Amino acid sequence: MRKIGVLTSGGDAPGMNAAIRAVVRKSIYHGIEAYGIYQGFSGLITGNIKKLEIGSVGDIIHRGGTILQSARCDDFKTEEGQRQGIACLENHGIEGLIVIGGDGSYLGAKALTELGFPCIGVPGTIDNDIPGTQYTIGFDTALNTVLNAIDKIRDTATSHERTFVIEVMGRDAGDIALWAGLAGGAESILIPEEHHDMEDIAARIENGVQRGKKHSIIIVAEGVASGAEFAKNLTEKTGLETRVSVLGHIQRGGTPTGFDRVLASRLGAKAVELLMAGKSGRAVGMEDGEVVDADLLTVLNKPKHMNQSLYLLSKELSI
Ligand code: ATP
Repeated sequence: MRKIGVLTSGGDAPGMNAAIRAVVRKSIYHGIEAYGIYQGFSGLITGNIKKLEIGSVGDIIHRGGTILQSARCDDFKTEEGQRQGIACLENHGIEGLIVIGGDGSYLGAKALTELGFPCIGVPGTIDNDIPGTQYTIGFDTALNTVLNAIDKIRDTATSHERTFVIEVMGRDAGDIALWAGLAGGAESILIPEEHHDMEDIAARIENGVQRGKKHSIIIVAEGVASGAEFAKNLTEKTGLETRVSVLGHIQRGGTPTGFDRVLASRLGAKAVELLMAGKSGRAVGMEDGEVVDADLLTVLNKPKHMNQSLYLLSKELSI
């Protein structure tokens, strides 16, 4: 392995830069040239590729977003696009590719692997919804961003004795809502993986009011309902005045936490090690504090289970 390429794809996540830095520096440390592919898989089609030096990834470990930029590229879902991508990599003499992104990006890496080009997947998404790893790069930062917002909203909720509905990201996965709701002491947490009964939620909030509770915070993952829609239903059921906060894209940005930087550094370096060992079609991850790798296809076929015990705990603690 003399030349390795790296790209970021799908939604950006804090810590992607730390992963790029790890890939580039680990490669150079071992005498391998590193190439950045810009704008995700579309950079493979347009040939937007540049050699990265040690200094190219200086001063980025603490920055959110991705210096390689990200993009969604439908052309890459076709075999023609994928073959074009491989031709582009081969023109640059690149022999292995590291794809940092979510499960859609993993499908791109799998397609290249099946066409004979060695690829390794690195889980980079705030949603924490990729099987084969307990944590994805960016999740911890997003969790802390949401938590910070909940704490601030709690101050005003207490002062005005109000019920707040906070809508957070998570179309299919509720980890951001669940972890932030548990850590932020929310009264109710609504996640896409669980069924919710509006009567039950209303009854819980009303019970709280009756025993003198001054405010309530409800976290709703966007995949369950919009914050506005949910708040309207709740007001109709309870008569309580509710306020809505939609946190939106602030959850994607910001300085990565120490946890995300260390995770990204370890996973990026492991991806390089795998290519150096002649491995292909693998996805790296973190399980019980250890860096692991698994077959990309197996990872893609495995459903990611939400942490049921955390969900039950959140119910027990929010009585
Ligand atoms: P996030 O979880 O943050 O949304 P993601 O990686 O799942 O990230 P997607 O938009 O699903 O984001 O995928 C990113 C890119 O991966 C797509 O724009 C496309 O270029 C590539 N991709 C997705 N699906 C496939 C596929 N079936 N075959 C080849 N490439 C794909």
